Amino acid sequence: MSAIDKINERCFDLYEDLHFNAAREWKDAKPGRKVVGYMPIYVPREIIHAAGMLPLGILGGGDQLEVIHGDAYYQSYICRIPRSTIELGVSGRLNFVDGMLFPSICDVIRNLSGMWKLMFPDVYVHYFDVPQNYIDDIGGNYYRNELQELREGLEELGGRKIDDAALTHSIGVYNDNRRLVRQVYDFRAKQPWKAPAAEAYLLMRAGLVLPVEEHSHMIRDWLKEAENRDMPVRDNCRVVVTGLFCEQPPLNLIKSIELSGCYVVDDDLLLVTRWLIDDVPTDGEPLNNLSLAFLHHSEETSAKYVPTLAEKGQHLVRAVKNRGAEGVIFASPSFCDPALLDRPMLQHVLTAANIPYIAFKFAENSGQMQPIREQAGTFADSIKLWSEA
Ligand code: SF4
Repeated sequence: MSAIDKINERCFDLYEDLHFNAAREWKDAKPGRKVVGYMPIYVPREIIHAAGMLPLGILGGGDQLEVIHGDAYYQSYICRIPRSTIELGVSGRLNFVDGMLFPSICDVIRNLSGMWKLMFPDVYVHYFDVPQNYIDDIGGNYYRNELQELREGLEELGGRKIDDAALTHSIGVYNDNRRLVRQVYDFRAKQPWKAPAAEAYLLMRAGLVLPVEEHSHMIRDWLKEAENRDMPVRDNCRVVVTGLFCEQPPLNLIKSIELSGCYVVDDDLLLVTRWLIDDVPTDGEPLNNLSLAFLHHSEETSAKYVPTLAEKGQHLVRAVKNRGAEGVIFASPSFCDPALLDRPMLQHVLTAANIPYIAFKFAENSGQMQPIREQAGTFADSIKLWSEA
């Protein structure tokens, strides 16, 4: 087996493991270690890392987990991720997790944080809010206080102080990881045939369960191997895929988009890996640096409040331009308010910019890919016909 196949196999094993054995092993390797889970979108993993704990991304149950108990806690007309996350909890798969963070994104996640508190009273549970105002003295101060509250909560959980030096060190470690993640995205945009969408996704996803240093090492190795490999160049069109920032699509859906003739050259999957788009400064007060980075150097997506209407959706137009994409695929979880409420506004912006798009919905356990392949395949064909006209 080639070196890159071994990396891909490891990533796939981590993806499939709903008992989180890698995180369990990390915890068991030294007495006193703690694991802090977080739901998709964004949490400042630097603070968890500085506390000496492992940040662990909890991304629902995917298409492998049968939801037996979780359905009883939620009505049927909401997305699936809260139900499968409850299933992970009540089935004991998360019984080694010492804390859970629920980042601000929607009412479903907010409610889930309250339910988690009731269901797992011994676990440190924190609803992590983010600013909706980007003025330094207002939203910045508010967010700085949120970061401090999280810091104090983790200090209590870990029984030790988190000093500024540790925070600054962790910021540097995550800067390194973000740089590597950006390299993967840049590499894929340049040579997408050498970075299949599902492979790049699994590589990123491994970073949500492994210690960050190990993940950075893994990306370096993967990039070295991917650059040198020989892969056939297909006559695919280039697309940006958006709307997948919370509940995860089945792996087959990501593969289907590519198999139907679309190279994915950008996406909003696993945003926590690149929410901050520049290095966070490592001089000065670390929480202030994290706060200002969120305010002024963070990814514009449907998961983030955009204060000016003129700016709404421009991140997609920029992504299309910067990545040399020819169209956009909106793929959103069924009943996902943040993604589906934004979609008409984003489609309006794309229409004005003369960028073609299609849209469909999915659930993390969707099994039938044929309609998606047909829709994405027809989209790819129409783009090729257009561009040749
Ligand atoms: S998929 Fe959408 S609606 Fe469901 S929890 Fe995530 S952000 Fe909220």
